Amino acid sequence: MAEVKHCYRHPRRETRVSCATCERPICTECMVQTDVGIKCPDDARLPRGARAGVMKPRQVALTLLAGLGVALVGIPIVYVIFNLPFQWLISAAAGYGAGTLINRAGGRNGGPLAIAVSVLAAAVPFLVWLAPSILAGTVGAFSIIPMLFAAVAAGLANRQN
Ligand SMILES: [Zn+2]
Ligand SMILES: [Zn+2]
Repeated sequence: MAEVKHCYRHPRRETRVSCATCERPICTECMVQTDVGIKCPDDARLPRGARAGVMKPRQVALTLLAGLGVALVGIPIVYVIFNLPFQWLISAAAGYGAGTLINRAGGRNGGPLAIAVSVLAAAVPFLVWLAPSILAGTVGAFSIIPMLFAAVAAGLANRQN
């Protein structure tokens, strides 16, 4: 006779599923699908590598790659922005878009790495254009503010989950 197990959270419910970590039986309503199998809610709460800010190597690689792509694509975009009115607003929107992209590339973990990469990727294109005047010491606050807006917006975009 097959062993009948009962969900540890619902003692009257029969189940054939058990948690991959603690091996307690759990019913279909309680079970949580994770990358490493079915888990009980207690163990699923702290899945290794799936917590916010904890990334798998692949997600780290994708985050860095997305950051690099955003920084490169951003260079011509920033050049256009500098020739537009409302450049603070446009920079913030562009930065937010860049941050969202990087956040998604990294599996929406939104950890410190995703934030750092987003802020850098948003700031680098501005720095490329501002570098000559920064080095010459002639850079004005009005040129730096759009960069700050973009960088902050990029960082904030990672807080959306
Ligand atoms: Zn468990
Ligand atoms: Zn249950």
